[in-house]
Amino acid sequence: MIRNNTTQLAPNFQFSQSSLQDYVECKRRFQLRYIERVAWPAVQAQPILEHEARLANGQAFHRLVQQQLLGIPETRLTPVDDDLRRWWQAYLETRPADIEGRRYIEIALAATIADQRLVAQYDLVVITPQSAQIFDWKTSTHPEKPETTRRLFERMQTRVYRYLLVRAGADLNDGQSIAPEQVTMTYWFAETPEEPVHFAYNADQFAADERVLTSLITEIQMQELNSPWELTTQERTCAFCPYRSLCERGVEAGETQAGDEVEIELSTPGILDLDLDQIAEIPF
Ligand code: SF4
Repeated sequence: MIRNNTTQLAPNFQFSQSSLQDYVECKRRFQLRYIERVAWPAVQAQPILEHEARLANGQAFHRLVQQQLLGIPETRLTPVDDDLRRWWQAYLETRPADIEGRRYIEIALAATIADQRLVAQYDLVVITPQSAQIFDWKTSTHPEKPETTRRLFERMQTRVYRYLLVRAGADLNDGQSIAPEQVTMTYWFAETPEEPVHFAYNADQFAADERVLTSLITEIQMQELNSPWELTTQERTCAFCPYRSLCERGVEAGETQAGDEVEIELSTPGILDLDLDQIAEIPF
């Protein structure tokens, strides 16, 4: 199929929304992280302790919601941190996914595209006879809504999650394929629980997503193996990238502002790069 001197991805390489987002934001970052597997040499954002605490709380919040959805009594779920307590209270008051349907929690789906495996792990998918609803919990600071909506719509997560549910979601639906028009995706923000962001889906968007994903993965496969890939021209991105010293794009980590965490959270190793083979389907 390929390609002397072009990228040889490992046979078991799996694309995800996270790795594709890295590539879209900076080709060099994708190369360093996924091809050369360079360790992360610098802190990602300032203030360091605050940033790390926010990431840890984000993970803890996801675990809390997962346990609640699995049926653990809420009285036994006791967040210990102030932020976590506030988010948990907001979740319990709004109950964004409190709808009838078959629930799949932390479910992983995969499909082959451009000869590569594309995977996604969902916080929650709820299947009803009419709909297939994706829920994603966000603990990031919520910027102005029009800006949030535009950025979320353009993110690879929105593209990959909706696309893969149509491509690979039949097993969640008694073997019946899921039509694009049945799919919706909801981002729920713990900081602004009354302002979730919803995206519908349709056949045109599905076809467009397939074109974009195929094109991106093919482009990655055709990159030169032995030379540095293109560095982003959006240098603000570098302030939050741990490779900035390698690229001579500064030493100090950037200060996070409203909305930055959305970008950071989705690209942080360990947050979303979970071992997808270990995730079981849990319908009830
Ligand atoms: S520092 Fe900037 S140019 Fe270098 S990998 Fe990171 S985002 Fe890309």
